[in-house]
Amino acid sequence: MTVSDDTRASTVDAVVIGAGFSGLYMLHKLRDEMGLTARVFEAGGGLGGTWYWNRYPGARSDSDSYIYGFTFDEQLWREWEWSERYPEQHEIRAYLEHVAERFDLTRDITFDTRVTGATFDEAGNSWTVTTDRGEAVRARYVITAVGALSSSNLPEFPGRDSFRGETHHTGVWPHEGVDFTGKRVGVIGTGASAVQAIPLIAKEASDLTVFQRTANYIIPANNGPVPDEVRKARLGDYAGIRERIQRSYFGFELDLLEKGALESTDEEIYNELMPRWEEGGFGIWLGSYVDMFFNDEANAKVRNFLHDRIREKVEDPATAELLIPKGYPFGVKRNPLDSGYYEAFNEPHVHLVDVKSNPIAEITPTGLRLQDGTSFEFDSIVYATGFDAMTGPINKIDIRGRGGRLLREKWEAGPRTYLGLTSAGFPNLFTITGPQSPSVLSNMPVSIEQHVDLVARIIGEVRDRGASTVEPTTQAEDAWVVHNAELVKPTLFEAADSWYMGANIPGKPRVFMPNLSFVGPYRAKCDEIVTNGYEGFAFDAGKQGALT
Ligand code: NAP
Repeated sequence: MTVSDDTRASTVDAVVIGAGFSGLYMLHKLRDEMGLTARVFEAGGGLGGTWYWNRYPGARSDSDSYIYGFTFDEQLWREWEWSERYPEQHEIRAYLEHVAERFDLTRDITFDTRVTGATFDEAGNSWTVTTDRGEAVRARYVITAVGALSSSNLPEFPGRDSFRGETHHTGVWPHEGVDFTGKRVGVIGTGASAVQAIPLIAKEASDLTVFQRTANYIIPANNGPVPDEVRKARLGDYAGIRERIQRSYFGFELDLLEKGALESTDEEIYNELMPRWEEGGFGIWLGSYVDMFFNDEANAKVRNFLHDRIREKVEDPATAELLIPKGYPFGVKRNPLDSGYYEAFNEPHVHLVDVKSNPIAEITPTGLRLQDGTSFEFDSIVYATGFDAMTGPINKIDIRGRGGRLLREKWEAGPRTYLGLTSAGFPNLFTITGPQSPSVLSNMPVSIEQHVDLVARIIGEVRDRGASTVEPTTQAEDAWVVHNAELVKPTLFEAADSWYMGANIPGKPRVFMPNLSFVGPYRAKCDEIVTNGYEGFAFDAGKQGALT
């Protein structure tokens, strides 16, 4: 469906980087609602962003499908029927194809093209965006729609490339799939991707060894078809659902309990948590005790409940002990949802190896070796080792603002933004669901819609004022950075080595990257800023004019 590049404009109002949820809605907004010209560049060969690349067995969203989509268009929301409670990867891609077709978006998307750089020209108040296919496009605005989890992390184990078997990373999975039937497989990592993939790989492999550095708290997904009466009730409540998720803490229909775990008896805690455990999903995490995010004693009460559930599910007591997370609180790392993860370890051909106490020393031509000399032989190694999250995908691009300054250099000690959407010295650059916005601490489509709408309002304001640039003031940005740090300080989030903290990437600054205002209050704050005349933003007095 790609139109050949030579028919494409080399000067447009806006360049959007990425054709996942954010890029598609941004293109629709700019082009169809605001009458601007726009081009989207996408590194993949098709739509979907993270869902284009993450095709590992079991890949699906952990958000309920009825809220894992756009709500800006009621008809669009109504006409798409998901087949299960959680949408699977290929179904999400089909949904995004449907969105693109419905709004005729693909004609403005250039696929198989990675944006390598974007340089701001101060004389012309425009950006020049360059690609790995040698294109250069001028644009007034640049919007990164690159996703928070799109830059995969492949640890640099010694000998990594010497392995003679098959190697795969969950985040860059072959489109044709991988057949593990009868193979000896090693999986490195136990995050959300591994938790989804392991039960299915275990079904095919003759032998599966999982290398765990940090055990995760894992909650049942309880996936399956959605009962008809629930589906119908939801269809009758479009406006209510939209309103509730937009005002919620996390973009889900989940509310935190008023009573804390600290004020509750063990029996009360069991009675609150057990129905959530059985219901599956994020209820225990994002819809239970608020004090567990602030107080370790409260957190321990919830942890104890979860430890008991692991012991119930895993037959071998030594394996169960290894699967019980230690050394950090519950809820301060992203909670994976499972469909048979713990049960997989009850299979005789599935083994768990602790690589915290005995790290992987090297990858060998036939497998891998641990520090104590124990070695393993495999036909396939699967790296489920995650992503250089949030700042990673943005920092991969050579983004140069005023004075030729590189954004990644400005962010060397951690991201510096205003609202997680803009950065001083980088005029007309917007980072959808960027670091220091709620982003990954929410149901992403809700945050994406809010950011796209906000970008459109800000660009509309540039036009209305007859200005040519907008960027945050340094004071507004400094205050936002401090505000982010203050929000996280009283919580337990900094106590874990999570990718929220950049702790999974050697050398990355240890800074909590998402914004902890939460979805509803963050939206209200952004609305207030707009109402107050775009507080914290500086618009230049230049003439808008057309780019030539
Ligand atoms: P992840 O959560 O970062 O997990 C990576 C795993 O690899 C961790 O267990 C990590 O251990 C391990 N690891 C990394 N480097 C290692 C090394 N050098 N040696 C040994 N182990 C190493 O990555 P992910 O599972 O791909 O998930 C990332 C995020 O993507 C999720 O948190 C979620 O937000 C999103 N995601 C969502 C879904 C969904 O919606 N269903 C599915 C998949 C992913 P440590 O914990 O010790 O660092």
